[in-house]
Amino acid sequence: MKLFKIIRILILLLLLASVAFYSKTQKLKSQSWASPLNVVIYPLNADNSPEVADYISGLKEDDFIEIDDFFQRQSKNYSIVTPQPTLTTLGQTLTDHFPPTPTPNSSPLEIIWWGLKFRYWAFRYTPDSESNHHRVRVFLHYHKADDNSVLQHSLGMDKGLLAIVHAFGDKRQQAQNNIIIAHELLHTVGATDKYGANNQPAFPEGYANPDKTPLHPQKKAEIMSARIPLTVTKSVMAETLKQCVINQQTAKEINWSAL
Ligand SMILES: [Zn+2]
Repeated sequence: MKLFKIIRILILLLLLASVAFYSKTQKLKSQSWASPLNVVIYPLNADNSPEVADYISGLKEDDFIEIDDFFQRQSKNYSIVTPQPTLTTLGQTLTDHFPPTPTPNSSPLEIIWWGLKFRYWAFRYTPDSESNHHRVRVFLHYHKADDNSVLQHSLGMDKGLLAIVHAFGDKRQQAQNNIIIAHELLHTVGATDKYGANNQPAFPEGYANPDKTPLHPQKKAEIMSARIPLTVTKSVMAETLKQCVINQQTAKEINWSAL
C-alpha cells in the first residue's frame, strides 16, 4: 500500500513536470487573441435519459451563437487583434466514453491526479489535429430538466483549456446554459470567479459597472459572478448573455488590454 502510494506520487510528479511546459505555451497562445479561439462543445447525456437524448439530437450550432456574439460585443470595449475572439462549434456527441469526474471533497493531491487523468482522457478521446492547436473543449453534461434537482458544479481549467459544464437539456434553459459555458470558457483562459459570501457579486470586481451612482440597482451582471446586484445583499441571476459584461478586471486576467 505504502509502496503503491510512493509510486503513484512519483508518476504524478513526472507527469506534472512534462505537462507544465506544454500548459505554459498553450496558455500564451490562447491568450494572444491574434485569431479566434476555437471552442468545441461536446454534448453528452449525463443521466442516460431518452428526453436528454432527444434534446441532444435536436441541438444545432446556432444554439450557441450567443456565445460568439457576446465575446465579439464585449471585445469592442478593449483593444485586441482579432475582430472575432471566439468561434464556437458543435463537436461530436460523446456516447461511449465520458470524462472522469472529480469527487467532491477531494484532497489537493486527488484533485491534481484527477486533472491529469482528465487531460489524458481528453487527449485520447478528443485528440488534437494539426490545425486545431488552440481549442477549448467544453464537455457539456446534459441532465433532465427538473425543478428540484441541483446540478453538480461546472468547472473550467486554466491548464489544458478544458471545461466540464453541467446543464439542463431543455430549450428554455439554452440562454442560461450559454452564460455558464461563457463563464467556464473564461476560466480556461485565466479569468477568476468574482463572487463572495452567499454567492453575492464581490465589490468592485464582480460588478458590471462599479462606478455607477447610485451603485444599486445595477443593470447588468459581470460574467464571472453572473448575477445582477440589486442591493448590497440581493442579486438576481442574469437571464441571457445580453445582460452580461466583461469588466476591466476580467479583461485584464484574459489579456485583453484597455483601449
Ligand atoms: Zn466560476
